[in-house]
Amino acid sequence: MSSRVWDTVVLGAGVLGCATAMHIKLLAPESTVLLLDRNPRPAMGNTRKSVALFRDLFTSRASRDMVLATIALLDHVQDELGYRLDLKRYGYYWMMDEERYRAMSNAIGDLRVRGSEVEQHGRDGVSERLGELLVPEPASIDGRSLPHVDHAILVQNAGTVSPTRLALWYESEFRRLGGEVEYGFKVDRLALESERGGSATVWEGARVSAVEGPLGRRAAVELVVAAGAWTPSLLDPIGVDCHVKPQTRQVFGLKGPGVDALHAENHFPGSELPVIVLPAGGVYLKPIRAQGLLVVGCADRWGRAYALEDDPRPEPRFLDNQIGPVLTAYLPGLRGAEVPVSWAGQYHYNTLDGNPYIFKESNITVAVGSSGSGIMKSDSIGRVAAAVHAGNVEAKLFDGTRVRVANLGVRSRNVEEEKLII
Ligand SMILES: Cc1cc2nc3c(=O)[nH]c(=O)nc-3n(C[C@H](O)[C@H](O)[C@H](O)COP(=O)(O)OP(=O)(O)OC[C@H]3O[C@@H](n4cnc5c(N)ncnc54)[C@H](O)[C@@H]3O)c2cc1C
Repeated sequence: MSSRVWDTVVLGAGVLGCATAMHIKLLAPESTVLLLDRNPRPAMGNTRKSVALFRDLFTSRASRDMVLATIALLDHVQDELGYRLDLKRYGYYWMMDEERYRAMSNAIGDLRVRGSEVEQHGRDGVSERLGELLVPEPASIDGRSLPHVDHAILVQNAGTVSPTRLALWYESEFRRLGGEVEYGFKVDRLALESERGGSATVWEGARVSAVEGPLGRRAAVELVVAAGAWTPSLLDPIGVDCHVKPQTRQVFGLKGPGVDALHAENHFPGSELPVIVLPAGGVYLKPIRAQGLLVVGCADRWGRAYALEDDPRPEPRFLDNQIGPVLTAYLPGLRGAEVPVSWAGQYHYNTLDGNPYIFKESNITVAVGSSGSGIMKSDSIGRVAAAVHAGNVEAKLFDGTRVRVANLGVRSRNVEEEKLII
């Protein structure tokens, strides 16, 4: 059994664990840091199940701060460092009815002030771009009406980026800075001891002294838990509440003449379809033009159990009964599309305000609750987690924005609710 004690063990080599490990080494280059994961490589948890999208349109200031800075980092890595992230901008086209549109004015104003390109289209503007492909006032489904497309917001600072390549970049930077990695190490439990050593007691504070699993124990002075959807299952047994719940999300790739028509017959510049979000159910479509595909998913919250699943499976009935009716009401050409590919993964969901929880309890720093946008916020979450780990009051994001880290913590949390979670 290894008797070595690392300064810090980071548990979880998804995009958030890799980003956090890199930022810990950047803040404390001399410290010894071990990044652990049960999988044989980084990014094999829910990071690789992501739909790989990014956008700067969020309703909460905290989310906008985190994504704007992370997107700037993505551009820097790809354009200036020359590391291929498969980043491509094609925008997001968020359609909504009058009521939702009114609630968006603050977010749009803030984005414009910060230099983002935002276009607002009324019904005529939407028709100019999608013409007959879209039905803006769809018929009701089983007597239940659907919101109309009264407006659409087109944000340009949005598109796709490879989550796996991004996690690999953070991880390779971490190793370049002298960080160590160990893959194939499954953690079964966090070992507690009292703050003065020996077994934990109720009259002394406790700390985690090591992580333990079938391959032995890895001892550390500080622990970072960035285990995504699995985080509650690791922290609940030691009485640390991370305030998030795992929930499954599924996506389906569609192919066929209706998909081809959307790719070819739209009137966006260069016929480049943006990501489309429909006004009902958070149903969205990601274009993959080169493969003639549209990947669809939805904000599947109600009726879906909060339950940890290691390897969730997509349910064809969910496409047929939930996503399909909304999709084909607005985009009837997609009726009868083939489904050559589908997959499912899990969100770690902050059910209260939809923003991440990044906090420290004893010697454990927790970075969790990315709520479906962890790729596009990864660098910022990593910086805040590294600052929390170091005991800093503020974190400086890639674009220079300063964040009071306690705002994303538990005890003096101060963030608005994020309303654009899909
Ligand atoms: C269908 C779907 C679509 C999504 N689309 C987007 C999107 O378009 N854009 C976006 O920004 N985000 C998206 N997300 C969210 C994004 O994937 C997550 O926010 C992000 O991957 C979270 O990263 P993570 O590092 O926290 O988790 P993970 O990638 O799951 O990493 C956690 C790691 O911890 C390891 N681990 C867990 N338990 C243990 C243990 N006991 N011992 C050892 N190792 C352990 C796991 O093996 C895993 O590698 C999507 C998610 C899903 C499911």
